Amino acid sequence: MSVAQSVRLPQRVGAWIDGQPRPGTGEELPIVNPALGRPVSVLTESDAGQVEVAVGAARAAFERGPWPRWSVERRQAVLRDIQARLLAHAEELAWLECQNTGIVLRELRQRHLPRAAANFGFFADYIGQSAEHVYRQTPGYVSTVMREPAGVAALISPWNAPVALSSMQIASAIAFGATCVIKPSEQSPLAVQRMVELMHEAGLPPGVVNVVNGRGPVTGQALVAHPDVRRVCFTGGTETGRRIMEVAASHLAPCTLELGGKSANIVFASANLERALDGALLGIFSNNGQQCLAGSRILVQRSVFDDFAARFVERARRLRIGDPMDAATELGPLASQAQLQRVLRYAELAREDGGSVLTGGAALPSLGPGFYAAPTVVLALDNACRVAQDEIFGPFATLLPFDRVDDALAIANASRYGLVSYVWSDHLPTVTAMTEGLRTGVVWVNTPMMRELRAPFGGFKDSGVGRQGGAACEAFFTEEKVVTWPTTPPALRRLGAGP
Ligand code: NAD
Repeated sequence: MSVAQSVRLPQRVGAWIDGQPRPGTGEELPIVNPALGRPVSVLTESDAGQVEVAVGAARAAFERGPWPRWSVERRQAVLRDIQARLLAHAEELAWLECQNTGIVLRELRQRHLPRAAANFGFFADYIGQSAEHVYRQTPGYVSTVMREPAGVAALISPWNAPVALSSMQIASAIAFGATCVIKPSEQSPLAVQRMVELMHEAGLPPGVVNVVNGRGPVTGQALVAHPDVRRVCFTGGTETGRRIMEVAASHLAPCTLELGGKSANIVFASANLERALDGALLGIFSNNGQQCLAGSRILVQRSVFDDFAARFVERARRLRIGDPMDAATELGPLASQAQLQRVLRYAELAREDGGSVLTGGAALPSLGPGFYAAPTVVLALDNACRVAQDEIFGPFATLLPFDRVDDALAIANASRYGLVSYVWSDHLPTVTAMTEGLRTGVVWVNTPMMRELRAPFGGFKDSGVGRQGGAACEAFFTEEKVVTWPTTPPALRRLGAGP
C-alpha cells in the first residue's frame, strides 16, 4: 500500500493543548495544496482565549509538571524515542508536509525528515555533556553558576520547512527543561501537528509541548504578547521579526529571530567551475527556491562570467518541474498564489530596473492549476537593483559580474541582510580574504549548505538576532543562577550589637 493510500489527511486541524487535540476556537481557514491549487483541509484558528489556555498549560507543566524535574537521563530517553518515531514515520510526515507546502517529496525524505529526527538526537546528546561553572578565585568563597530552564517559550515558524524548523525550536527548548507553545505557519500545519502527536506517544508529559494554529496577527501576536511567555524563538520574515520583538519587549521576553536573507554565492575564476555551477544551482533551486539561506545573488568573476551564466541558464531551463510527489521532480510549485505573483512581479521589476530576464519569469499553467513558476534567471544592471536587494523567496536567481576580490566583497556586503554566503575558489588567499571580509553569520566555502548543529547559526544585520545551535540554545532557553557560600564562616560585622 502506498503512503498516499495509508495516511489520513485530517479533515480539520485545531490546537493541541495539555497532551490532547482540541478544536480551534476562531475562524476557519483553508489549507491549500500548492500542487493542486485548491484547499485539501481546514484549519480552525485559535483565538486569544485559546492561546491563554495553551500558555496556562505550558506554565502549569513548567511549574508543577514532571518534565523540568526529571533527570537528564529520563529526558534523554524521551528525546531519543521521539527521534526514533520521527524516523519510523518519516514517509507519512513527508507526505503530509508535501500536501501543504509543495516541497518535493524526495527532498523531504532525504533532508527535512532525517534532520528533524536528528535535532532531537542532537539535543539528547548535548544535555548529557553540558557542564556548569564554579568560581573559586575569591579566597574563602565558592560560587557556582547553574542553569535552570527559562520557563514557557513561544516558538513561531514559517511555511518553507515546517517540520525541519519547528523540530529544531522544540528540541532545543524542551531538552533544557523549558515548556512551550508552538505556532506553525497557518499555511502548513499538517505534518507539525502529527509530529506533536508522535512526541506524546513517545512519553512526553502533557503540557510540555502545546500547539496553537492560526494567523500571525491573531494567534501569533496573542502568544508573543502573553506575559507568561519568557522566551520567544521566531523564524520568519524580517518585518514580522521586528514586530515580534516590539511586542515581546512589553514584558521583556528575550527573542531569537532567524530572519530573511539575500545571500551572495560568489564564484571566482580560481574555482572548480563545474562544482561551483552545481553548487549555485542547488543554492537557489533547492526547496523550490524558498529558503532563507538561498544563494539568490550569484556573483561571478568577469573573466568566466559569460560562460558560467550561459551554462547556468541552460541547466535552469532543463530542471524537471512538476508534481512534487513524483520521484523525478526537481522543482515543485511555489507555496501559494501570493508567492507565485510575487516571483513573477520581480521579473517585471528586473526589466524596469534595466536588467534582462535570461530565462523564466512566467507562470506554467500547462502544469495545471498548481502554483508553478518557470525557474528564473536575471542579469541585473547592478547590485542596487531591486532583484539584487530584495528577498524574493522563489526559484529566482540574480546574476552579477565582478572583477576583483575587493569588488566581490563590496557587492556581497552591500545588502541589508547578512545571513550566509558561499565562496567558490581553490585559491587560498582569495578564500581567506573573503571569509574575513564577509559580513554574514555563516560562510560556506566550496560547498552548498552544510548545517553544523554544534555551531551557532544566525544572521548579521536584518537577517536576525541571536543564534541557534548547541551552546547558543542552551544559553537562550535557560536562566543562569549564581549560588555563593563561604568555605569557612566569614567574619561578620555585628550591626546593632554595640555597647
Ligand atoms: P512570516 O514572517 O510571514 O511568518 C512566519 C510566522 O510568523 C508564521 O507562523 C506567521 O503566522 C507568524 N506571524 C506573522 N505575523 C505575526 C505577528 N504579528 N506576531 C506573531 N507571529 C506572526 O514568514 P513566512 O512568509 O512564513 O516565511 C518566509 C520568511 O521566513 C522568509 O523571509 C525567510 O527568509 C524566513 N526564514 C528564515 C529562516 C532562518 O533561519 N533565518 C529560515 C526559514 C525561513
